[in-house]
Amino acid sequence: MDRLLEIDMKIQRKKTRKIKLGGLEIGGGSPVSVQSMTKSKLSNTSAIKSEIKELIDCGCEVIRIAIPDKEAIQDLKKLVDDKLFTDIPVVADIHFDYRLALESIKAGVDGIRINPGNIGGGERTAKVVEAAKSKDIAIRIGINSGSIDKKILKKNKGILKSSMVESAMENIRIMEKLGFYNFKISAKASSVLDTISVYRAISEKTQVPLHLGVTEAGPMFRGSIKSSVGLGVLLADGIGDTIRVSLTERSPEEVRAGYLILSSLKLRAMGVDIISCPTCGRTRVDLPEIVREVESMTVGVKNDLKLAVMGCIVNGPGEAKNADLGIAFGKDKAALFLKGSVLKRVSKNIIIDEFREELKKLIET
Ligand code: SF4
Repeated sequence: MDRLLEIDMKIQRKKTRKIKLGGLEIGGGSPVSVQSMTKSKLSNTSAIKSEIKELIDCGCEVIRIAIPDKEAIQDLKKLVDDKLFTDIPVVADIHFDYRLALESIKAGVDGIRINPGNIGGGERTAKVVEAAKSKDIAIRIGINSGSIDKKILKKNKGILKSSMVESAMENIRIMEKLGFYNFKISAKASSVLDTISVYRAISEKTQVPLHLGVTEAGPMFRGSIKSSVGLGVLLADGIGDTIRVSLTERSPEEVRAGYLILSSLKLRAMGVDIISCPTCGRTRVDLPEIVREVESMTVGVKNDLKLAVMGCIVNGPGEAKNADLGIAFGKDKAALFLKGSVLKRVSKNIIIDEFREELKKLIET
């Protein structure tokens, strides 16, 4: 039997305006980009530098850095001057003090993230926008369920969705009235359902590019699931131009989770996909350990490869055949499949070595 033909569903992306953040295009049909935020203290130079390098190495496309005070501006400037951001745009995350936004722009960032509501609105926002315009940098308007303007909340009788949507639309009007268009908007809630319904409503009203995220999603397991559900639903609707998976975890894990969400929807191709069965009473090998070994063989591999590791002959041969390289375990032996055909049947004890050899060849081609 030939390899199965997979469903050819293609997500229709919503039309948004294209903006530029450093060398990266966001919106207007550009690939959905993956962002993260550094977690090291800016004053700890070696830690922040190695975090930035690790983020770049794992494919992060935008790095955001919190700028809580004046001292942070000096540290940020050093990183910019040390050319840490020549290959990746850097965004300064500012709350409360608009002067920090002005100083960050002077320091040479590619973008800033502000919430006009908490930097004093009016003239202060206008000053920041003017500075952004003069340096041709981007702004993200970051609306968050935890910090909505109290006046808007009161007017909307405390209803989160209408308050967040109104807040987003009001900020869009402010930016456009100031003649500024190089901006995107985010409206993150910590509840998955709120996130979905707020973004859907905003997307219907504007073509401003959207940065998606479920805010404060939680630790690795819980946060990845909440983000996958929330972002997955929106992305499948065609909504979203850039994403961040917020995890109480090391920042490279956020990037990996982001790419896994996008690649599972075929919005981005990102290296290796591993199909493995959940195991059951028919399994006669330590499959979780074998899968961990296969995973370790693929760290850093950028090739677009589908690998399958299956516990028995029920679904094993079918899945292994549909992978680029697959193992289907039998009673004493295991079959190694390459691109849809059995390459060899060998003892279970040596199959993993055979698999490793074939994987090397695939990676090199
Ligand atoms: S492939 Fe076989 S071992 Fe794996 S879950 Fe299915 S029936 Fe069980």
